[in-house]
Amino acid sequence: MITALSDTELILIVVGVFYFSECIFWLPETAVTLTSAFGKLRFATSPVFLRRTNSQAAILSPFPWSKSLVTEDWPVAVSPGGMAILFGPHAGQIIAFEDLESVEAEKHSLRLNKCSIRFATSSAALQIATLLQDMKDSTVDERGSLLRTAIQSRFLLSEVSARLEKVERFTDSLRTISLFMFLWVFAYGPLLYYSVDLQPGLLFRYFTPLGILWLTGVVLFSIAQYKLLLNSSSEQISRVATLCFSPAAVMRAAQAISREAFSRFDPSAMAVSVLHPKQLDEALSQRLRNLLYPTSSDFPNESPSFTTTCEWYSELQLTTFKEMLTAANIVTDELLHPPAADYGALSWCPRCLSQYTLPDGVCFDCRGVSLQSFETDKSDLAPT
Ligand SMILES: [Zn+2]
Repeated sequence: MITALSDTELILIVVGVFYFSECIFWLPETAVTLTSAFGKLRFATSPVFLRRTNSQAAILSPFPWSKSLVTEDWPVAVSPGGMAILFGPHAGQIIAFEDLESVEAEKHSLRLNKCSIRFATSSAALQIATLLQDMKDSTVDERGSLLRTAIQSRFLLSEVSARLEKVERFTDSLRTISLFMFLWVFAYGPLLYYSVDLQPGLLFRYFTPLGILWLTGVVLFSIAQYKLLLNSSSEQISRVATLCFSPAAVMRAAQAISREAFSRFDPSAMAVSVLHPKQLDEALSQRLRNLLYPTSSDFPNESPSFTTTCEWYSELQLTTFKEMLTAANIVTDELLHPPAADYGALSWCPRCLSQYTLPDGVCFDCRGVSLQSFETDKSDLAPT
């Protein structure tokens, strides 16, 4: 026999739904999300049925003490000459600095003239807007220097470590408050409701500690957000207001901070620092192979000016990525091992690792990438 839910049960269910909605995020396809409740972080689950054109959903660990962070590849390639838009509805457009009339960040979007480019975090959009404005106001030589410094800082492992320590310092207490609030609402609350008769003063004794936890969470979130994130004042106020009305948001407040606090770092730098070893080698290998063997599918526009900008940007990324690997004592050649040959396979694609029964040729999936023979000496594997 089905009985109607009481108001208390209904409220608990609604708060629970809001809590789990805080664990799922729609992000641009350039975003890389790491999450874990225990130990080193792992890539967040991103089911195929939750992927759309230019975006995907990332499912974060639902445990209240879990940690999550988001980094991203820039959706725009930048060179001293201009910007080539790689992803989103304006992919394929190129804007020379001489033609750049306005650059501004608006929440998660970067606006270049009339083109809006979506980032995973508002902090990242603001950082690149500031960089592009500085480059716009500089000479061509100065632009190259500014860009190199910006890209190098995205791969600096010492800065990642310092940032990890700072974020931990400002979110540790907040995570504890979030955990207590979660237990108070979803464990202690139902326990009282189903085991104790309503007595005078019971509601006061339940809601007073809850209110104190709630208020403390809002205050700690406000401080951490102010110290760690670059969001505009209006966005920060808006987020604090959300916490004032949503207990579920307070339970996920520490994750909300840490999710955005590492947006200025490259995904591979974060991977070296926090990714689980079982996923690290494959992630670094894939990144290195993509940079070493770019294909025309990487460039939504094959015009010479677009390709030149992308190649300049890729070359800078590759150089800086290799410097980071050296700093982390990771041997580049060990990331470029050929796969174990399947029966009958004669060659393999050095970018996607697909195997072919052809002795040579180009990969079907990676346009323009020549196949490597399994007989080829390893010393011959470097791209020309
Ligand atoms: Zn391939």
